[in-house]
This record gives sequence, C-alpha cells and structure tokens, in this order.
Amino acid sequence: MSKCIFCKIASGEIPSEKIFESDNFFVIKDVNPKVKGHSLVISKKHFENFMELSPELYSEFLETVKGAVEKLGAEAFNLVVNNGEIAGQIIPHLHLHILPRKSDDGFDFGV
Ligand code: 5GP
Ligand code: ZN
Repeated sequence: MSKCIFCKIASGEIPSEKIFESDNFFVIKDVNPKVKGHSLVISKKHFENFMELSPELYSEFLETVKGAVEKLGAEAFNLVVNNGEIAGQIIPHLHLHILPRKSDDGFDFGV
C-alpha cells in the first residue's frame, strides 16, 4: 500500500520546506493557502485524525503550534482541525491549520 502524502513529506520522499519542527511534528506552508502564511502542523507519525493522537503527545503538539505561530509572527490567528471527511478532512493524516489573520484579509472564517 502506498504511503499517504503527509507520510511522504514527513520521510523526505517528497521534499518540503519545514518552517518549524519538534521531535514529533513539523510545520509547512499549505500548498493552497487560504490566507497569507497559512501553515499546517503535521505529525511525523501517521495518525489518521485528531482523535488518534497519542495522549503523551498532546502538550508537544500544542507547543509546536505555539512555536510555529511565533515563527510566523502572527499576532492574530485561527486554528482549525478538520476531523473526519464530513468535516472537510481531505488528507487522512493528523494536521492542524494555522491561519494568520490581518484586519484587511477579507477571510470569512464563518464561526
Ligand atoms: P484538510 O482539508 O485535509 O484539513 O486539508 C488538507 C490541506 O493540505 C489543504 O489545505 C491542502 O491545500 C493541503 N495540501 C494537500 N496536499 C499538500 C501538499 O502536498 N503539500 C502541502 N504543503 N500542502 C498540501
Ligand atoms: Zn500518513
């Protein structure tokens, strides 16, 4: 069975520019950004979705999100996890969207 696309990026099989990294997660820019700086926090290990994430990795996951936000210099931001196909999850490998926000970005988050 072929590996999923984020596993290929994690292993380096598909090259990517990592803007931030921790032991178990890495952060890359989204290939189809909804706003400037739209980035993805991705687990190095394959977890199908947020509910599969090992509890011992919760704090490292959030620390990685905070580190990436600081690296992006985002004062305001939305964090989004699409969990499950019905909720819009296209890639079945755990990831969290960081959406840096500007007052004039015209993005309607809708929540
Ligand atoms: P989902 O809807 O699964 O939460 O979002 C998947 C995200 O991954 C989408 O925003 C999509 O643009 C992004 N994406 C899909 N394939 C790639 C890729 O090969 N590289 C990068 N950097 N982003 C990707
Ligand atoms: Zn995977």
